[in-house]
Amino acid sequence: MSDKVEQAVDRIAKALNLADLSETRWHRRLRDFQALDRVVIEVVPRYKTSGLSGDEWRQSVKVTGLFKGIEIFGFICGRDMETAFAMLPGKRIEWGDHGLADELIAQEKECCDQPSCLNGWTVQYEVNKLTADDGSWLDPADKYFTYYRQFCDEHKRRGDCSREDADENYKLVATR
Ligand SMILES: [Zn+2]
Repeated sequence: MSDKVEQAVDRIAKALNLADLSETRWHRRLRDFQALDRVVIEVVPRYKTSGLSGDEWRQSVKVTGLFKGIEIFGFICGRDMETAFAMLPGKRIEWGDHGLADELIAQEKECCDQPSCLNGWTVQYEVNKLTADDGSWLDPADKYFTYYRQFCDEHKRRGDCSREDADENYKLVATR
């Protein structure tokens, strides 16, 4: 290993020791998290003027995808809705390959975790026990970090039907 690499490894190791990850709470999304919670497909008219070919109204179809009120995805296509419907699946997959936008992450930090809710969070809950994707409880020994979720006043009551996302599985750790 060169001196530079050794120094870099040393710096990273020191930073990790100082960070004390056991005290850090990590955000844990709900299983039904949606990066796109609203898609608007609309006809947008525009008036074209031309000294050569004349003036007329034209239109295009605009597709806009939103996450908690901010535009994070979209495209403009032909003149009819059917073209937009046909293009949407491919465009969605193409967009998904580029990862989640910084704006989405920033908005997520401020908002309630309930998908599509635009409200700012008012409570943060520490998640007690974790479940696997199939809903079964994970062994507490496999929980390496402390996780939290956040909700607004309207959605802070989580109910008793789910396992992980249930009132009795949360501990209130912050309010604002
Ligand atoms: Zn909410």
